[in-house]
Amino acid sequence: MRNHSSALGFTRRSFLRGLGTAVAASTTSHWFAGSAQAATMSVPRRPQAVVKDRAPLFAGNMYFLPLGSIRPRGWLLDQLRIQADGLTGHLGEIWPDVGPNSGWLGGTGESWERGPYYFDGMLPLAWLLDDARLQARAKQFADWTLDHPWPNGMIGPRSNDDWWPRIVMLKALAQYQELTGDQRVVPLMDRYCRYQMATLPTRPLRDWGKFRWQDEVLTVVWLYNRTGSPYLLDLAKLLQLQGYNWIAEFADFPYKQKVTAAWLKLAEGQGLSDLALATHGVNNGQGVKTGAVWSLVSASADDRRASEHMLAELTKYHGLPNGMFSCDEHLAGRDPSQGSELCTVVETMFSLERALAVTGSPVLGDRLEKLAFNALPGTLTDDMWAHQYNQESNQVECSLHRKPWVTDGPESNLFGLAPNFGCCTANYHQGWPKFANSLWMLSGAPDHDHGDGLVAAAYAPCEVTALVRGTAVHVIEETEYPFRGTVALTVSPDKAVFFPLGLRIPDWAPGATIRVNGERQADPAAGSFARIERTWEAGDRVELEFPMRLRTSRWFHDAVAVERGPLVFSLEVGEDWEKLKNNGLRSADWQVFPTGPWNYALAVDPAHPEASLLVTETPVGAGPFTKPGIGVRIEARGGQVNAWRAEDGAANPLPESPLASEEPEERLTLLPYAAAKLRITAFPVLKS
Ligand SMILES: [Zn+2]
Repeated sequence: MRNHSSALGFTRRSFLRGLGTAVAASTTSHWFAGSAQAATMSVPRRPQAVVKDRAPLFAGNMYFLPLGSIRPRGWLLDQLRIQADGLTGHLGEIWPDVGPNSGWLGGTGESWERGPYYFDGMLPLAWLLDDARLQARAKQFADWTLDHPWPNGMIGPRSNDDWWPRIVMLKALAQYQELTGDQRVVPLMDRYCRYQMATLPTRPLRDWGKFRWQDEVLTVVWLYNRTGSPYLLDLAKLLQLQGYNWIAEFADFPYKQKVTAAWLKLAEGQGLSDLALATHGVNNGQGVKTGAVWSLVSASADDRRASEHMLAELTKYHGLPNGMFSCDEHLAGRDPSQGSELCTVVETMFSLERALAVTGSPVLGDRLEKLAFNALPGTLTDDMWAHQYNQESNQVECSLHRKPWVTDGPESNLFGLAPNFGCCTANYHQGWPKFANSLWMLSGAPDHDHGDGLVAAAYAPCEVTALVRGTAVHVIEETEYPFRGTVALTVSPDKAVFFPLGLRIPDWAPGATIRVNGERQADPAAGSFARIERTWEAGDRVELEFPMRLRTSRWFHDAVAVERGPLVFSLEVGEDWEKLKNNGLRSADWQVFPTGPWNYALAVDPAHPEASLLVTETPVGAGPFTKPGIGVRIEARGGQVNAWRAEDGAANPLPESPLASEEPEERLTLLPYAAAKLRITAFPVLKS
């Protein structure tokens, strides 16, 4: 079992490699003429030591491994390849905002957040795949910024001096330094931070930067851990002082209702008021990391708990069954017809990854997986050439309509190149690559007084090479999780070494078992990190078994959602894809209309869903989140509710449960959320 190249996996990857070659050949662009040089850049294979939090920082519970330590395998490799062969690998060829005239490449085009957004996501993807062509493109963005600082230390295009896009560029450059060892990065960041320290008192953070300051603190901490310059701690404190106080807001959360454009006074030009920005979805998604990140500087245990609290409050008042909170584009309540912006999905994922590392709280890992396996792939087409701005948990039509968005435009749930607004077009690329780079972490905080260990923070097929207590340790993770509940780890240190192996046991997995070399370990508690302490030797085998029981969760108007492991299931609705226009290459804008009914109430006992739902497992195929590839579906029964009809493209109001159906019961198929682009996820329940 050491050799992962199963017949299925080999065939799948060969197919995708073939696909990738064909696409690349048909779209060769002069802009990539220099890409052959990049073939010489490669990921460092020797594991590097983790750079830990330096005193007086309050150390995190876990540390991210140096980028390059984790390599995708199996379905995760397929998924990243689909992304690279999709829009991520070609965006600059058809969308000028990140093309050769980008202000972040020295041109006169878009010079604000879009260049840094794109760089921040395609960069880690390029290295996860060892994709020389994408690496060359990433290097163009890095080189221009590194080679063109302003004389005063400022970075970026000269046409604006907004702090916000630089916050994104800094976190991308930190990744670039880890991946390439580029010696220009740390001095450039240091000069910029000194400039900002001197300038902020007279030109303080404003609008987006004011609400997203916590993302810069991440980079300031990264830099402090490398240089030890004390002024960086003062800069972090100044950013916090000028930035929006997310921790205080959520200590007594005031925004418990769907907000409206009128209440926000958007028509009166209040789009950048503190009220509008505090209720803005992406800002809240980024804000989730604040407590955890700030606790590194403040050393406050209350701050450290604040990330989990913020997530709980957002879920309580705006939570949706796909793991998101509503934001279309401001907080919009719990109706499953409300939308969630794609930027918010990937930014909330990034916040959860960072907060999980600092706090070691397993519930944040559960939520991270829920977003990665449902909301993220659910809002992208199978080939990742098109995305939505807003996705809905109950999404019965993707068409030009105004309802039910709080403030967004009629294009918001079309699949396309830049529906509604282009931020998501530039920003979504970070979702999968950063998830892949968060699968394994190093534990080593002071409360882990036994010293360093390796931790499986989230699960997907991969391999990791890390330096643990001075010894290189290689782990191969074989799994078809989240479609199956088995995870097999083969642990191979260079020489025998003692360390604790941490394994996240999801909250939904009571009864999980762990075996080491066939020997059953103590039963781990659900919603915890199990810890196996032993001297590891080459070829040691760990087998995790998560019981994939069906369960239900309760939502708006007492609707239920069906869940199994980290996957949420949705009614399969027939889809008619109508192309609105071509955008170049394989990019197009689409409307999607239902070809059959969707207004079903489910015949299910929420306490015993297994009594009426039948799970069928099929092989996990190419395109793990597409209808042919999903590997699991559920047979259910339900009855139509005639009064429940779409109004202006939205399936609301959602009827209160339980209710009766006038129609005979029918057999229904439920698919993993991501595969059903038209769907019902929050079902009314039939009276028993
Ligand atoms: Zn966006």
